[in-house]
Amino acid sequence: MGFVPTMGALHKGHIALINASRKHCKLTVCSIFVNPTQFNDKSDFDNYPVTIDNDIKMLSLAGCDVLFLPSVKEVYPNGFEQKRPFNFGFIANILEGAFRPGHFNGMAQVVERLLKIVKPDILFMGQKDYQQQLIVGQLIKKMKIKTRLVMVPTIREKSGLAMSSRNTRLDAASLNLAVQISKTLKSAKTQINNPKADIRDVQEKGFKKLSGLRGIEPEYFEIRNAKTLDVPKRKTEKLIGLTAVKIGGVRLIDNMELN
Ligand code: AMP
Repeated sequence: MGFVPTMGALHKGHIALINASRKHCKLTVCSIFVNPTQFNDKSDFDNYPVTIDNDIKMLSLAGCDVLFLPSVKEVYPNGFEQKRPFNFGFIANILEGAFRPGHFNGMAQVVERLLKIVKPDILFMGQKDYQQQLIVGQLIKKMKIKTRLVMVPTIREKSGLAMSSRNTRLDAASLNLAVQISKTLKSAKTQINNPKADIRDVQEKGFKKLSGLRGIEPEYFEIRNAKTLDVPKRKTEKLIGLTAVKIGGVRLIDNMELN
């Protein structure tokens, strides 16, 4: 059984996960659940897009076998209180963890609950949320859950913009601006592959480029070790660029392998 947990407002990125599951598994289960415990910003939760009728159509067309559409009570029968919050340490405290306090704990809480309910053989998650899938890998290890994690590459618009449910909240001008996110990551990739380039310089240039654009507020633009998310020392390490920006009040993230 393959499992694709989502928060709905499905797009081709989600469908790529369904397709990957259908390729590897006899039965594909998708869940749609906008998890209250992973939103540190109430207005982000309140404005999260809900398009359930269209989601059901897309899942049927993609050949998904089961849709699990639980209520909050079903996932959290005893409320949101956790006896012992998770402690993933460094990897959950940096980048997204630093800008969205509590987010990864809430995310891990719901993923653990969904895995216990669904009991899949394989869990499919997107590279789009790179730090998230690293932490889920740790969760699976820590809790000794018998599920394998498979990461599916990010699906992008023709413009390069990573598909995201939050893109539906961007107007035309913001969409235009959002293209600069993947462009900046691509440019970092080109620069890093120049033997003379210095990791720090490339990172600083990326952040400066984004902060110089009117309408984009970058939160971070970082080059990290792709396995550990540590600050890299050498270019022989596997490097990944990760960024989060706000455009018109909408928070967008993206990442790209650089070498
Ligand atoms: P979400 O509904 O945003 O919580 O995402 C559900 C799953 O879909 C997560 O594993 C995401 O990483 C994945 N996902 C979201 N957007 C994309 C994308 N553009 N390409 C690939 N996977 C994605």
